[in-house]
Amino acid sequence: MNYKIAVIPGDGIGPEVVEQTVNVLNCVGDKFNHVFEYEYLLAGGCAIDEKGTALPEETLESCKKADAVLLGAVGGPKWDDPNAKTRPEQALLGLRGGMNLYCNLRPALLYAPLKDASPLKDSIIGDGIDICVVRELTGGIYFGERGREEINGIKGAYDTERYNIEEVRRIAKIGFETAMKRNKKLTSVDKANILESSRLWRSVIEEVAREYPEVEVNHMYVDNAAMQLVRDPRQFDVIVTSNMFGDILSDEASMITGSIGMLPSASLGEGTFGMYEPIHGSAPDIAGKGIANPLATILSASMMLKFSFNLEEEAKLIETSVLKVLENGYRTGDIMSDGMKLVGTKEIGELVLQEILR
Ligand code: NAD
Repeated sequence: MNYKIAVIPGDGIGPEVVEQTVNVLNCVGDKFNHVFEYEYLLAGGCAIDEKGTALPEETLESCKKADAVLLGAVGGPKWDDPNAKTRPEQALLGLRGGMNLYCNLRPALLYAPLKDASPLKDSIIGDGIDICVVRELTGGIYFGERGREEINGIKGAYDTERYNIEEVRRIAKIGFETAMKRNKKLTSVDKANILESSRLWRSVIEEVAREYPEVEVNHMYVDNAAMQLVRDPRQFDVIVTSNMFGDILSDEASMITGSIGMLPSASLGEGTFGMYEPIHGSAPDIAGKGIANPLATILSASMMLKFSFNLEEEAKLIETSVLKVLENGYRTGDIMSDGMKLVGTKEIGELVLQEILR
């Protein structure tokens, strides 16, 4: 079977981690007789330099024609001027909005061999952390009306949080479906004690919950959720929340697993199409040094195989191969600890290939 993948390496370490991931995909393709066809596209800072815009129209059009999109990371100090008209992050918002990718799935999994990397105590971690954050991605305050205003001669600015019931319902459904495939526990996070949009959110979650009687549902205010994630992360299975709360909580959930270089994500819309990317940024401080951890991107490709191509066995093989490499004691600098073997981007990529071929 042939699959068309739009590849956006982006900036900083993006091209380095994407290169290893494409090697892994090719290796899986050879082993299982699939052909992955790649179209390399520009977005982010490199696109600003070459085309004057973070998201050239042809990039978005080609992505829409592909079966799935693989993205490295965008951004860097070169394009960081907050007053600049074109900024690399516009590419991310443009891709999500332009392809109607309204759901972001971010598993935060603490791999047993990396237990020491978590900043939390052993007594809190217990037998491990395994949370999936389901974040609404194309609505809320990041897409709402914003502007500058002057009231009584004093300069100000505003952003708007706005949701309609359809936007909440479709993300709620993905939250419940995800919970059904996991431990059947869903925590919906809002700020319903203050925000009207959160009260609407909560009522829709309760309505959708009736369709999933097997799922245990609870509601939590976002401030409490931020505390509970570090106090007792094992109480969570699936967290469903709005765009801004999800942005913050998914980073917190990642942090407690201790390794930003390990965590993948999927952005999904209707059907099987999706965009897959590591949660980390372009890490300009280590770009070009050959030391970036490519495993988050490799695991994102595994999510692509599972969610967009329905290739469960192939996806699982990537996951178990990554785990085996960690169990064998190999580490990139970001996850290094005493007694382990330090390797670079290319080496760890090749170790994953060896496990896949085993
Ligand atoms: P970052 O994730 O790029 O880096 C944070 C720290 O983690 C750095 O010390 C970096 O070296 C390290 N790190 C990140 N990924 C790593 C990996 N795979 N292997 C080893 N170490 C890794 O976040 P930042 O420094 O806040 O942002 C840098 C740039 O990336 C900014 O321009 C930001 O806007 C952009 N960014 C892009 C995305 C994206 O493309 N999705 C996401 C976040 C940040």
